[in-house]
Amino acid sequence: MNAPDWKARAAALSFDGRCFINGRRVASADLATFDCISPIDGKLLTQVARGKGADIDAAVKSARAAFDDRRWAGKAPAARKKVLQAFSAKIMEHREELALLETLDMGKPVRNSLNVDVTSSARCINWYGEAIDKVYDEIAPTGDDALALITREPMGVIGVVVPWNYPMIMAAWKLGPALATGNSIVLKPSEKSPLTALRLAEIAIEAGLPEGVFNVVPGYGHEAGEALALHMDVDAIGFTGSTRVGRFMLDYAGKSNLKRVYNELGGKSAYIVFNDSDALQRAAETVVDCMNFNMGQSCNAPSRLLVQDDIADQVIEMVVEHTKAYVPANPLDNTCNMGALVDEQQVRSVLGYIDSGNAEGAGCAVGGVRALEGTGGCYVAPTVFTKATPEMKIAREEIFGPVLSVIRFKTEAEAIAIANNSPYGLQASVWSANVSRAHRVARALRAGTVHVNQYDDDDITVPFGGYKQSGNGRDKSLHAMEKYTELKTTWLRIDANPDA
Ligand code: NAD
Repeated sequence: MNAPDWKARAAALSFDGRCFINGRRVASADLATFDCISPIDGKLLTQVARGKGADIDAAVKSARAAFDDRRWAGKAPAARKKVLQAFSAKIMEHREELALLETLDMGKPVRNSLNVDVTSSARCINWYGEAIDKVYDEIAPTGDDALALITREPMGVIGVVVPWNYPMIMAAWKLGPALATGNSIVLKPSEKSPLTALRLAEIAIEAGLPEGVFNVVPGYGHEAGEALALHMDVDAIGFTGSTRVGRFMLDYAGKSNLKRVYNELGGKSAYIVFNDSDALQRAAETVVDCMNFNMGQSCNAPSRLLVQDDIADQVIEMVVEHTKAYVPANPLDNTCNMGALVDEQQVRSVLGYIDSGNAEGAGCAVGGVRALEGTGGCYVAPTVFTKATPEMKIAREEIFGPVLSVIRFKTEAEAIAIANNSPYGLQASVWSANVSRAHRVARALRAGTVHVNQYDDDDITVPFGGYKQSGNGRDKSLHAMEKYTELKTTWLRIDANPDA
């Protein structure tokens, strides 16, 4: 089968940037909009509604009404399952349109949007639908005179605030468990990538989700995002984004109704290669592949490569060589493996970190420059610093771009100390053929996920989230349902038989 001509399809695409509230498209209350610019060429895609307090309030009212009359929460789990399965199937029916919107909006290679983002979002929604009629509640081990039921109930109205790096997947990780358990949703996508969220809501209604259950209000963080997180009638916030904004979320909850806040935040993941690894080539290629996937804009990018001193030169050579396989190109090209960064602001931020690495003597061995300048788009060449030290800014802060810092270490204890000396604790990787060492180091690393002799395994069946300032919740797996449900205890008295 011929690969689609994405550029021709993009030219024929129409956009609708209006809010989605109570089952229909509406302009923002004050008719304000913002420009939605494509990072592929810097051109205007469309105008998108600039939602503010009044729009958030309308969306929360719609979600609350839907929750209170139990049009969704009151459905049997098997009925909710059917709707979520239909929603997932419709996402796949619309996969090419959704993939195109994602790529035009935030610049990732369209084949990744299609084969990763759309596919895994659909799988996530389907997985929670499949799960929900197989989850049982509990009966406590009390005495004969009572029955104590421990049940999970939907929480109510969930505010979802997501970033731009995986717009659909991040939304799906919240929508799946929150909808499956019967909640209503108000989703605020990033102002840098609002288009797929709006289409998802329309598709959900087409699939049979009752109107009002899933609302989307695009807008800026300090306007729509803040209004949602401060709202007195929102029961929980499912947030994915930066650690900086995660702090605001906790603050908003404290200033309003103490709503639950689940933060999935940034990372600076350590990838440790020991001299007893029997897979150095694979270790080198995997770190480069995972670092440059999504142009380095992944919370779990393995951005700190820690290599044992006596194999460092060899591994660095492999890393630099494999990095050259990543070539910035138009993400609508079917062969592109490295698209555009999300916007001009992100390019400037990444180039600022590259300047800092150069100034601190981190030794840029490849990349380090802007790419495809004539296109008007937002491209940065994949970059490797081979002489980084743990104190340098590029080795401490989340860059969120295609910049890898290589740090040398001598002993196992030193590697663990460097890896853990970070405010973040999202993921880590250990490469060693020594099983005891692999387990020892995996246990010592303060991270939500530790990979051994690999990095890219990922599945909806396992929790995803971090220690320390990488967050407090867990997306994915059955554990995510805990976030969107309240635990209720119901005591029933059982009288003794008066005739006995
Ligand atoms: P961001 O924190 O700037 O924005 C995230 C969302 O918060 C956006 O929708 C934004 O509009 C909103 N927001 C911004 N300011 C706000 C405010 N004052 N009040 C309320 N909402 C506000 O993050 P980003 O730049 O969109 O995304 C990148 C970050 O996301 C990185 O730090 C990355 O590590 C993190 N991330 C984490 C995970 C994870 O699962 N742990 C996954 C993906 C991305």
